[in-house]
Amino acid sequence: MDGPAASGKSTVGARVAARLGYLYFDTGVMYRAVTWAALDRDIPIEDEAAVTDLAFRLRIEVLPPTVADGRQYTVLADGQDITWAIRQPEVDRGVSPVSAYAGVREALVAQQRRIGQEGGVVMVGRDIGTVVFPEAEVKIYLDASPEERARRRHREMLARGQEASYEEVLADLKRRDGLDSSRAIAPLRPAPDAVIVDSTSLTIEEVVARVLEIVQKALEAACCYGA
Ligand code: C5P
Repeated sequence: MDGPAASGKSTVGARVAARLGYLYFDTGVMYRAVTWAALDRDIPIEDEAAVTDLAFRLRIEVLPPTVADGRQYTVLADGQDITWAIRQPEVDRGVSPVSAYAGVREALVAQQRRIGQEGGVVMVGRDIGTVVFPEAEVKIYLDASPEERARRRHREMLARGQEASYEEVLADLKRRDGLDSSRAIAPLRPAPDAVIVDSTSLTIEEVVARVLEIVQKALEAACCYGA
């Protein structure tokens, strides 16, 4: 499942995975973890060689929640809990430049392929259908208008006690989408065989139902192909 920032991929992906009994994996967490670690270690985001080296060395683990504080999962970087730290505005600002580096993508995509190779996973990100698993059985591209996405993200941030204005959130989303869509390697775009779901005027449950319907159809098609 791919789509722009705050399109609902994590909420929808986690619910769809739960309904299917699949693993849910949010690849954005990995790019955020590398960005957080670079900032933490005073590695300049512009230093491609040092950031790439970090991406190959950093041990990123995504585990079931270890603290009951509303988290979907726990993220560890070399054993340190960075679950909330990777949601800070400094990470939001640095993550698109970091994820544009070829070496960083090479390091993280290899780990993502290992996690997904057995199947039974709902993986969300920007390039899952185009690069990580071009042979995935079901590809969804989840979209929504920038204004609706900014409203949702703003609400989430306020609920977490993070201060930000709606205008700032909207500007940040547009900036990040611009960078993610225009980069040379693995740009954000729907795979040619992805089903595009626009969630602008749908509730979360409606989007989940639509995605499950798409999965069901794909399963039926796979079962009877050539029969
Ligand atoms: O999904 P999330 O907003 O957490 O992703 C953070 C950033 O990580 C994105 O803006 C994008 O730059 C990068 N990303 C990526 N490829 C993925 C997932 C995320 O480039 N598969």
